[in-house]
Amino acid sequence: MSKTTCELDALIFGGGVAGLWLLDELHRRSFCALLIENRALGAGQTITSQGILHGGLKYALGGFLSGAAQAVGEMTDLWRQCLEGRAQPDLRGVRILSPCCHLWRTEALASKVGLTAARFGLRTPVVKVAPNERPPALARCPGEVLRVDEQVIDVGSLLKELAHRHADRILNIGDSNDVTFTLIKPGHVETVELRREDSTAILLVKPGVIIFTSGEGNAELRRCVGLSPEVMQLRPLHMVMVRGSLPELFGHCVDGNKTRVTITSAVDTLGRTVWHVGGEIAEKGVQMSTTE
Ligand SMILES: Cc1cc2nc3c(=O)[nH]c(=O)nc-3n(C[C@H](O)[C@H](O)[C@H](O)COP(=O)(O)OP(=O)(O)OC[C@H]3O[C@@H](n4cnc5c(N)ncnc54)[C@H](O)[C@@H]3O)c2cc1C
Repeated sequence: MSKTTCELDALIFGGGVAGLWLLDELHRRSFCALLIENRALGAGQTITSQGILHGGLKYALGGFLSGAAQAVGEMTDLWRQCLEGRAQPDLRGVRILSPCCHLWRTEALASKVGLTAARFGLRTPVVKVAPNERPPALARCPGEVLRVDEQVIDVGSLLKELAHRHADRILNIGDSNDVTFTLIKPGHVETVELRREDSTAILLVKPGVIIFTSGEGNAELRRCVGLSPEVMQLRPLHMVMVRGSLPELFGHCVDGNKTRVTITSAVDTLGRTVWHVGGEIAEKGVQMSTTE
């Protein structure tokens, strides 16, 4: 069995959008970095995402003006620049499914207030849509329909775009049992022993820094390096998918200070539209059976 030793500036665990973006950033800054994935790139939340480049609607509806809310608002600008090739990473190859999302509301008075809060609280431009310019699905919707400049991207094309330029810096290891950390003390790793899924060769890495971008997998990795796994946030969702002869729709239905549903559209292999329905229904749906 052969063993190769290498020193790296950074070792990243997890090839979702966070890890891949970070790998790209580090590489552009001339750091020597390697990304480890134990399933398929994006196999966590990223590939199931609705692909909306959020402008902070959730925070605007709730009236939160925290630093995080502001940072989320600023992200739409950064994404736009990257998608247009004006900032790095250059994401001109990513498919844009919709240039905007629409906002509509339930009939409750609180929803009217919510929509007004969105109109004035969002950093991303929000405009009222004239009745004859509404998307067909919202033609008979009560109250105003607004358009917010949140783009929606095809997440698969984002993963491909980031991954293809770093193919030789990404290692698929398959099962996590093929990783062994040697610790100096809890939280301080001296070496990481890695075994490729399709090989018996061992790679012994001495990383300057290790970054866990493994989503749900972070808890176990933290445990492996002697850190508390409890700090990881879990936010399960139970998405609803509606398939049929449906009009294309991208947007959020405001219900008080919540989004009752967030709908994005895709097309299946038979050319039928599939609505991916997230928002409150997906959060509450975790408690429900599939039939409910
Ligand atoms: C249904 C749904 C819809 C969403 N819609 C949106 C949206 O419209 N807009 C938006 O901004 N956000 C959305 N999100 C949230 C968004 O998808 C996540 O915030 C984002 O994808 C998190 O990316 P990540 O890279 O941190 O984690 P993940 O995408 O979960 O990636 C983690 C990666 O780490 C790998 N991994 C796990 N354990 C290990 C290990 N031990 N070793 C190596 N690799 C490991 C996994 O296989 C995976 O590839 C949505 C989420 C869900 C679930």
